[in-house]
Amino acid sequence: MHEHLLVDFVGAAAIRPGRYNPDEVFRLAKPKLDAVYALGCRRFLDCVPNFLGRDPRLFRRIGDAAGIDVWTTTGLYAAGNYKYLPEFAKHETADQLARRWTTEVEKGVDGVKPRFIKIGVNKVAPVLGEWDRKLVVAAAQCAKQTGLTIASHTGDGAGALEQVEILSRLHDPRHLVWVHAQNELDHEIHAQVARAGAWVEFDGISEKTANWHEQCIRAMEKRGLLGQVLISQDSGWYRVGEPNGGEFRGYDYLYLSFLNRLPTEWHSRLLVDNPRRAFPQ
Ligand SMILES: [Zn+2]
Repeated sequence: MHEHLLVDFVGAAAIRPGRYNPDEVFRLAKPKLDAVYALGCRRFLDCVPNFLGRDPRLFRRIGDAAGIDVWTTTGLYAAGNYKYLPEFAKHETADQLARRWTTEVEKGVDGVKPRFIKIGVNKVAPVLGEWDRKLVVAAAQCAKQTGLTIASHTGDGAGALEQVEILSRLHDPRHLVWVHAQNELDHEIHAQVARAGAWVEFDGISEKTANWHEQCIRAMEKRGLLGQVLISQDSGWYRVGEPNGGEFRGYDYLYLSFLNRLPTEWHSRLLVDNPRRAFPQ
């Protein structure tokens, strides 16, 4: 539900095409997808937004070669203290941003139609910042126009609740995924967001975090909310600017190890049924 093939952290002011060799990325990324294809993976949501390395044509090429349907995003990312937010997004209205994203969905980007909206917001202090809130409003409008689901990288539980409130007002919180919910330590906040209808996504599953992730998932199940949970490794990726793309982590830990901690009947709920309902487009 949330992985990456390539990320470029240079920032919106400096990012440009040609900072990497697509053939090199292909060569390094394809075996990682092959490994999870063999384990049953058929769909892969690449969550990188524009201005952070989104490359729909390359992502499709890698996915096609591996037999996996790789989805790409529209939207923008304010998290990281606005380093990845292009200047125009600071000045334009939510309507204008929504129109840009809807056009991307309708016309495609490099011949590829974005299949979901990815935004990122900074920590709430005490409420969402002006630009962060603008992205949420734009995402709600774009979601309403296109029917796509919003995945929002969210700093904390307060930020999630505020986004649920905005979605309730402008569209429907059932089309919102709270990305990085594992960073909120209060299971009651997870439950509150799920009860409001939004999706609670526990990302970044790894050997180091497995105990906590298991606890988060079980806490949701205990509250009758397993049907609102999504999980991912938030793994990968080719790091632009590092020699040979840096350390490229694979995507198979979840299949080979983590799932063994959970009852078998939860597996297809978490990896097939819930994703289908969260992203019906
Ligand atoms: Zn991510």
